Amino acid sequence: MTTVYRPGSLDEFWDMREKYGEALVFAGGTDLFVKLRALNKYPPVLIGLAGVKELQSIEELSGAVFIGAHATHTRLLSHPRIREHFPVLASALRSLGSPPIRNMGTIGGNICTASPAGDVLPPLYVLGAQVELRKKDGSRRVPIREFILGPGTTALTDGELLSGVWLKKEDSFTIHHFEKVGQRKALAIAVASLAALVTTTETGIVEKARFAWGSVGPTVVTSQDAEDALVGLPLGLKALQSIVPIVERSVSPIDDVRASAAYRKALAGNLVVRLAGRGREPLRA
Ligand SMILES: Cc1cc2nc3c(=O)[nH]c(=O)nc-3n(C[C@H](O)[C@H](O)[C@H](O)COP(=O)(O)OP(=O)(O)OC[C@H]3O[C@@H](n4cnc5c(N)ncnc54)[C@H](O)[C@@H]3O)c2cc1C
Repeated sequence: MTTVYRPGSLDEFWDMREKYGEALVFAGGTDLFVKLRALNKYPPVLIGLAGVKELQSIEELSGAVFIGAHATHTRLLSHPRIREHFPVLASALRSLGSPPIRNMGTIGGNICTASPAGDVLPPLYVLGAQVELRKKDGSRRVPIREFILGPGTTALTDGELLSGVWLKKEDSFTIHHFEKVGQRKALAIAVASLAALVTTTETGIVEKARFAWGSVGPTVVTSQDAEDALVGLPLGLKALQSIVPIVERSVSPIDDVRASAAYRKALAGNLVVRLAGRGREPLRA
């Protein structure tokens, strides 16, 4: 039998953690419970984070926004600061799962699952997110790209908890773009996805670009070479097609039940080309 505890604060959480060293932690449970059920292996103790008040906040602090690890996808989607400053993240959240999954699932759970197909991750990479990790006696901040080490593996050490995510407001990007290709339109794990932030001049010349692809490598893939190659070019079909070979060299997809590696590689390039339709329109979330 499994006993489930629900601490109301971090102090209570640390006490339970100390007392039940073998306990597993869950937030919404939409990843963990599926996994436990598949393995048919349940721990003696589970600690749920839903009541921990310190993990719930979403606040703006001197040019940055802090998102508590237990912010659900639905809450993030309806939050004005997220929609205003991070449309690329809002767009990804809209494509994640279904309403019940978004109501239960949290940003912290998506990050700690560390799936290369996690929809929240490519936006967090282009936004230069830092994760905040807490222990009983201190905390540290780590860039998201150093936190995710491989499929299902993170830099979280024993006794640490992800307490939240820091995002600098990136209001200088004129295009926030996220697109995911799945096997169907809803409730689909990404076959490939792209988060992109681009700034163009009034005349459409690219000044800066950031790209991050999901599901085409063991972790989210970025390509400084592809970003650099686009700078100085007019944002259009020709320029975007010219960086496709660089994109295809940067990704390292695998064959699996959803798609072949070759298809994923082609998708990674095609997703970039589809930016051609994006001009300097007002940002939408
Ligand atoms: C039907 C279905 C559809 C789905 N569709 C999508 C989809 O389209 N896109 C997508 O990206 N995902 C999808 N998922 C996966 C899942 O819903 C998301 O990854 C979700 O964000 C996980 O959050 P959670 O709070 O439920 O995590 P949980 O299951 O509670 O936790 C996941 C892991 O993170 C750890 N963890 C959670 N919070 C913390 C913390 N604060 N500190 C340390 N460790 C922590 C847990 O111990 C566990 O190992 C889907 C899942 C289901 C069941």
